[in-house]
Amino acid sequence: MIIILGVPGVGKSTVIKPLAEAKGYRMLNYGDMMFEIASKEFGVDHRDKIRALPKEKQFEIQEKVALVLAKEKGKVILDTHCSIQTPQGYLPGLPKKLLEKLPVTGLVYVTAPVEEIIDRRKKDFEATGRVRPTEPKAILEHEGVNRELLSAYAFFCGVPAMIIENRNGKLEEAREKVSAIL
Ligand code: ATP
Ligand code: AMP
Ligand code: MG
Repeated sequence: MIIILGVPGVGKSTVIKPLAEAKGYRMLNYGDMMFEIASKEFGVDHRDKIRALPKEKQFEIQEKVALVLAKEKGKVILDTHCSIQTPQGYLPGLPKKLLEKLPVTGLVYVTAPVEEIIDRRKKDFEATGRVRPTEPKAILEHEGVNRELLSAYAFFCGVPAMIIENRNGKLEEAREKVSAIL
């Protein structure tokens, strides 16, 4: 299992989607799996509202998803987050007790300049209704917390962590780098 991480709107899903199939990986999105449970059990009507749930509920859903993921066999790419920025603080995307159940072989962290992330978040809000904060300070803080957790996850699993830049107009370069890792 390769895990792809990065702040919301940095382009994780965009970078990885065409590569997974081409390289024979099953593509799994933690947010899709969480949203399915959150909508059924807690009436959440938008994926960007999951992180507004009380932290206990987020952890409950997170654990249910991890237990499903723990049964995955074969080549899998998991699209998720190092941390979730919530009103109750940063929640770990992969708490130790869940991470230890996953057969992780590598971590890929996607990054981009903050102005480009803001621009992508604003455009997505207009085009698709995705709601992600656009204050630079909040994004930079989130990026900092994520990188610290990335190191912790690599240390805990004993696997490499690769950082990939996904710059505007350089999507194919980012994909080539991720493709080489896969
Ligand atoms: P989330 O964690 O919220 O799911 P994400 O990291 O998966 O976010 P995407 O939804 O893949 O982000 O991308 C966000 C937006 O950025 C999309 O509109 C996508 O088309 C755009 N985007 C991604 N990569 C680039 C790039 N290199 N240049 C320009 N736009 C890009
Ligand atoms: P995404 O489309 O990747 O932004 O995922 C949608 C939402 O799912 C995120 O905003 C989070 O609220 C939630 N989510 C995704 N991955 C995790 C995770 N590992 N732990 C907790 N929540 C997550
Ligand atoms: Mg995504």
